[in-house]
Amino acid sequence: MDFDFTPEEQAFADEVENWLVENHDPVVMDPTRENFTQLADTPERRAFMKKLAAQGWLGMSWPKEYGGQEIEGVYEYILNEALAKHSAPQIGKGVGIIGKTLIRHGSEFLKKEFLPKILNAEIEFAVGYSEPQAGSDAANMQLKAEKVEGGWLMNGQKIWTTSAHFADWYWVGARSDPDAPKHSGISLFLVPMNDKGLEIVSLPTIGKDTTNQVFFTDVFVPDEYLVGHEGNGFQYISEALDLERFTMFTLSPSTERARLLIEWAKEATRDDQPLKDDPNVRRLISRIVTDQAVAKGLSTRFVCAARKGGKPPTIESSQYKLFATQLSQRVCKDALDMQGAAGQIHEGQDEGPIRGRFEGAYRATVVETIGGGSSEVQKNIIARRYLGFPKNF
Ligand SMILES: Cc1cc2nc3c(=O)[nH]c(=O)nc-3n(C[C@H](O)[C@H](O)[C@H](O)COP(=O)(O)OP(=O)(O)OC[C@H]3O[C@@H](n4cnc5c(N)ncnc54)[C@H](O)[C@@H]3O)c2cc1C
Repeated sequence: MDFDFTPEEQAFADEVENWLVENHDPVVMDPTRENFTQLADTPERRAFMKKLAAQGWLGMSWPKEYGGQEIEGVYEYILNEALAKHSAPQIGKGVGIIGKTLIRHGSEFLKKEFLPKILNAEIEFAVGYSEPQAGSDAANMQLKAEKVEGGWLMNGQKIWTTSAHFADWYWVGARSDPDAPKHSGISLFLVPMNDKGLEIVSLPTIGKDTTNQVFFTDVFVPDEYLVGHEGNGFQYISEALDLERFTMFTLSPSTERARLLIEWAKEATRDDQPLKDDPNVRRLISRIVTDQAVAKGLSTRFVCAARKGGKPPTIESSQYKLFATQLSQRVCKDALDMQGAAGQIHEGQDEGPIRGRFEGAYRATVVETIGGGSSEVQKNIIARRYLGFPKNF
């Protein structure tokens, strides 16, 4: 097994790296937003996505008939990790999740309407699965989609919808058949975010960013905006989540943070003693870089499994997400342990080690083991789908 890129893949990685260095823009690339840097939520960040589109780097793995280049998904992986490393907006939701799911299950109408706009970086999406009583148990969603003449009438509530405050379209699951078994009564829809029946209420988070509650009052969705078949929504959502757990939880931010930590630890002192001589510091850092190699191996495993095509790989995606997001949090926790009291100085203050970067990152990375399905949910998926244990919810 060769874990290195082929010469062609490496040449692409170098090209992207050089381009990102040349196009560095501190307004767009703010590392202190941690994982939220992936969102194209400001005019500058949307303009950046347009530049990526002009490079021909959006939808590289998509079929040619939908504007793609039909090249291996590893190129999108290389691009996305490089964007994440530079704290730039990423290709996650549009290209990586919604576009790919539409290609597999969307009608020709939806493909024609949305795929070109995704490739041209013209639209941003919000994803709405979670509700107050439906987080880990997403199949318990109760947002009502009632069949009416020519479409569907939606009433109810979503919660934790990141991006709702700036997105153009809502990729949203709803209960279209209250009498069907819970997993079969769900359908997936695309709804314009500016519909007058949608009310968006901000929920500021522990990090610098906000997520949202979204309330639906008589939102009419024409039949054409139902994704795939009525009642199959949960299947599409599960596939989209397999993509999300890999695409939206890139490894590079945690690798970059570890790099900063190691540089700092090599120079820092405590009680006039070099930290680099402290056996506990050496132990923590050695463990981090070793676990990063494991996480890289798990990500390579996802990319290899996805090469086969068809349904996105579930087990590889859950194992990667479980390990990589717990590691990302542990890097921050270990950093604060090494930094002692000074590690608690607020992010952005000169007095803090690395300007308090790990104080901010420690808070920001809390979401990683929750969003896209918690660590416990990933363990349940692995127990059930990989090891054959019985279903427990
Ligand atoms: C900042 C942020 C952004 C988010 N963005 C989005 C978004 O854009 N779109 C969206 O749809 N959702 C989003 N989410 C929601 C996220 O996916 C849910 O929070 C997550 O799925 C957990 O659901 P919950 O919060 O209802 O917790 P619960 O499901 O109530 O879980 C509570 C605890 O119980 C554990 N638990 C639950 N069930 C089991 C079980 N069967 N076995 C073992 N342990 C279990 C969980 O692991 C967790 O520790 C976001 C959340 C946050 C915090």
